Amino acid sequence: MPCKYIFVTGGVASSLGKGILSASLGRLLASRGVRVTIQKLDPYINVDPGTMNPYEHGEVYVTQDGAETDLDLGHYERFLGVETSQTNNVTTGRIYFDVISKERQGAYLGKTVQVIPHITDEIKSHIYALGNSDDIDVVIVEVGGTVGDIESLPYIEAIRQMRYEVGRKDTCSIHLTLVPFLAAAGELKTKPTQHSVKMLSESGLWPDIIACRSEFPLDSSIKQKIAQFCNVEVEDVIASLDAETIYEVPLLMREEGLDERVIQKLDLQTQTLDLEEWKAFVSAVKEPSQEVTIALVGKYVEHHDAYKSIAEAFVHAGAKNDTKVVIKWVQSESVTRENVKELLEGCSGVLVAPGFGDRGIEGKVEAVTYAREQNIPFFGICLGMQCSVVEVARNLCGWKEANSTEFDEASSKPVIDLMDEQRTIEDKGGTMRLGSYDCTLTKGSHAFKAYGNKDITERHRHRYEFNNTYKDELEAVGLLATGVHPSRNLVEIVELKDHPWFVGVQFHPELKSTVSTPHPLFVDFVAASLKHQSSRRSQTSQASQSASNKAPLSQEPISP
Ligand code: GLN
Repeated sequence: MPCKYIFVTGGVASSLGKGILSASLGRLLASRGVRVTIQKLDPYINVDPGTMNPYEHGEVYVTQDGAETDLDLGHYERFLGVETSQTNNVTTGRIYFDVISKERQGAYLGKTVQVIPHITDEIKSHIYALGNSDDIDVVIVEVGGTVGDIESLPYIEAIRQMRYEVGRKDTCSIHLTLVPFLAAAGELKTKPTQHSVKMLSESGLWPDIIACRSEFPLDSSIKQKIAQFCNVEVEDVIASLDAETIYEVPLLMREEGLDERVIQKLDLQTQTLDLEEWKAFVSAVKEPSQEVTIALVGKYVEHHDAYKSIAEAFVHAGAKNDTKVVIKWVQSESVTRENVKELLEGCSGVLVAPGFGDRGIEGKVEAVTYAREQNIPFFGICLGMQCSVVEVARNLCGWKEANSTEFDEASSKPVIDLMDEQRTIEDKGGTMRLGSYDCTLTKGSHAFKAYGNKDITERHRHRYEFNNTYKDELEAVGLLATGVHPSRNLVEIVELKDHPWFVGVQFHPELKSTVSTPHPLFVDFVAASLKHQSSRRSQTSQASQSASNKAPLSQEPISP
């Protein structure tokens, strides 16, 4: 059966949730046995988001093959439970880079190189690259940006051409718009949707299905109006209401019949829908029996998208522990020795986040000291792990000058240092240690217990490494290297002996956490945090018990 294509565009406003809609539709099709993958087309000129600031772009999601990609790919993996790769994310920068490289090689045989057909051909070839694989039935293509943006025009044009090349019956176009509620008029307004569809059709693309993001339910008259003005059947107007959790969206889309409309239009052969596991997960997320607060110490905490995968990994691990994980976002720049107790008190776990550059580093190191000394479960990820090595070097080895050479090139104790192969690299884009690497765990370690396995693979994105020169001395004070790259001897995990749960990882475990496979380290960290919480509570109640036992006289009512 030839591969079929679903195109998802957005109109009226950005941030309507095309990524979640695409991932939800993918989940619904996959739950009927359809083999789905999702591709994101990004209209910006950066070759990839790897060089972009998290304030601009949110988290950079890294695939197993080492591509630095849009955070929507994280949603695709979390919802579908299948790995993506470089092919799943295309940017305008990448398209132009490839076209210009070919032009320099003389590949266009003297022709004038133009947006149509050369850029649009290049876009199509990236989409077909996924569709032509034998194990894919459906490619969902999400176009970034909003219809009407100059930058997304070549993508819309490429899709228009594809609908003729592949055949209309094997393609489906879904347009996600906003139906706002005007309080003054007391009603939902369809005009922005009408205009957005009109604009899309001016580029030659008519939507088959219109998904309407709205804060209130769309009654049948609103749906009929949209259907009439936008040239679709009323069943093809799908309401996309705000959900309590993003993981509920597949269930809401199911209720609206989105999957059935798509299946009918594409004439897909499917099995019976099985959403039982998904539903069980959603109820675990919505109705947990307990709560635990974990601090996330990082410098981008005002911008939660910068830590998207970490926050989602906590949702997965929370559900597995029947717990709601409440994240206390702690700005690392604000943490000092004086206020660390006040900021972290009441948190049952401390996660020190990944990052680049020296802003907020000393605050992160203070947070590590606090978690280490107070026996609070600690999880350091990438830069967070590097900070834990610096902390132990400074405070347990007594090397006050210990640092990463990222922050102090002249440090006399460079416990974290550049890898040799990084020293000569000058280009910033795509030059870090990226993608999947093997790691061998030490039996008996927390990591080994969590994974239940000695050999693991995790994804990386960093330039600096644990400096093996100091390994023996750090181990002597209790910081053990419990995960090591098998052939290159790179330290990938450190753990503190005689601490309830102190684990620093050089990789990014959050990137591999999905609904169907919550990440074992996050699951174990949340479990350790719960344990800490209950022991703290029983200590407090014992303390108040003994206080009230000790002072019965002052509690006695004074008789007149
Ligand atoms: N800045 C550190 C490095 O490049 C850590 C990177 C990260 O946390 N992803 O090694």
